[in-house]
Amino acid sequence: MTGHHGWGYGQDDGPSEWYKSYPIAQGNRQSPIDIVSAKAVYDPSLKPLNISYESCTSLNISNNGHSVMVEFEDTDDKTAISGGPFENPFRLKQFHFHWGTKHSQGSEHTIDGKPFPSELHLVHWNARKYATFGEAAAAPDGLAVVGVFLEVRITKIACLHDEKHHTVKCLRTNFNPKCLLPLSLDYWTYPGSLTTPPLNESVTWIVLKEPIRISEKQLEKFRTLLFTSEEDQRIQMVNNFRPPQPLRGRVVRASFKA
Ligand SMILES: [Zn+2]
Repeated sequence: MTGHHGWGYGQDDGPSEWYKSYPIAQGNRQSPIDIVSAKAVYDPSLKPLNISYESCTSLNISNNGHSVMVEFEDTDDKTAISGGPFENPFRLKQFHFHWGTKHSQGSEHTIDGKPFPSELHLVHWNARKYATFGEAAAAPDGLAVVGVFLEVRITKIACLHDEKHHTVKCLRTNFNPKCLLPLSLDYWTYPGSLTTPPLNESVTWIVLKEPIRISEKQLEKFRTLLFTSEEDQRIQMVNNFRPPQPLRGRVVRASFKA
């Protein structure tokens, strides 16, 4: 199927076709990748990740045609990450999810060849160095994306409710994205790209080792969301993930000893 933006996840407009409109798809630092844990290099100079997310009052939840996206007000550094491999704090702009039709696939990054049912991306930008998100998204050190794997378990994420409308309300009133993070902030980091067009090579990736848990019901809710906003085009929003891309000599660093 073809989305409004000329790309999607169907047979004719999916990841293997993206290079035709976005040649950078075949570039040297594309994402996602398969993280081979034994080949990741422990780097003791990597600082712990410092995540300071405040409960946000002003944000917007939407289906952007490719995923469910939650946008934040990003006028200051109150909701930001710092530490890790970064010199500056990076402000949270939005988060969204990738998932698949069945539990055996759905995440974008894989660990030792193994996919997870879903992956959360928390997208941040370097507001110390760049004036706007758009400017940062075009620069090699402009963005920082934290990737969190989701595992299907009986326990559900406490801050996400089951009813669609309830979720919206909950997110708008008093939502802290910190509830989407696992206990351990051990991570892998590598230089990469956006995983959707325009596929800019502007992302320093932080992939958390520990997954968070999502209930079967919550995952099902993502699966039944619509790919387009038109009510008449009831297409299931499934398999919105790009497969792993070639490493091309890049080194994945680990903040922890294997
Ligand atoms: Zn993403």
